Amino acid sequence: MRRIFPGSITAYSQFGHLKVPKSIRSICPDCKDKVEFVLKSTYQSSKHGLMTESACPSCKQSVPFVIITKEKETQPNVYIYDPQSSTDPSSQIQHIPRIPEELVRAYKSAVSVHLTKENGATAVLAKRVLENVLKNFLGDKAKGLTLDQQFEILPDHINLVKPVTSLGPLMASEGGLHKMLELESEMDDEMTELTMDLLEDLIQYLFVLPGKIEMTREQIEKKLN
Ligand SMILES: [Zn+2]
Repeated sequence: MRRIFPGSITAYSQFGHLKVPKSIRSICPDCKDKVEFVLKSTYQSSKHGLMTESACPSCKQSVPFVIITKEKETQPNVYIYDPQSSTDPSSQIQHIPRIPEELVRAYKSAVSVHLTKENGATAVLAKRVLENVLKNFLGDKAKGLTLDQQFEILPDHINLVKPVTSLGPLMASEGGLHKMLELESEMDDEMTELTMDLLEDLIQYLFVLPGKIEMTREQIEKKLN
């Protein structure tokens, strides 16, 4: 699911006491064109909100939209179903450049075996995924080393700060983005959306993911003791 921010909603209609989006400018999850979706007003409604769909004007694919309504809030949360922006790596992994095919295959097998509740096979495939992740960064240096030895030398072979340092030039005081942030020039809808994406990515990378890895590691350690 990808959040649709109010800036991308180009028209509203009324549904009961709710103001719901009627048309939305967004990237089509299928063809990647920036299009204007006109949402069908034949909503499926539930306690938590509404579900509807819209056909992409460019590729004609039908795309689901979910509108979550909260009590007392007149502005609902709107989402487009975009598998690539879900937090589930198996749907994201193949669209990220530079991920080795072998790793993608190994991870997908691990996920599908896990779904069948075959714990032994899951363990085998989980090990293969870990080895593939390590091999991706260590290459031949992984040879002959145990998993813990490989993890120990891993930080020397990944540039974890690059995603952060590469943002420096983008924020340069004479740069276009900086001027927009300082309100010296105007941010259009697309730039607003990209900026929100960047905030989300940065928070995920710096806070959410490290925190989640830490929590999972603690749970595993607790379980082992
Ligand atoms: Zn499309």
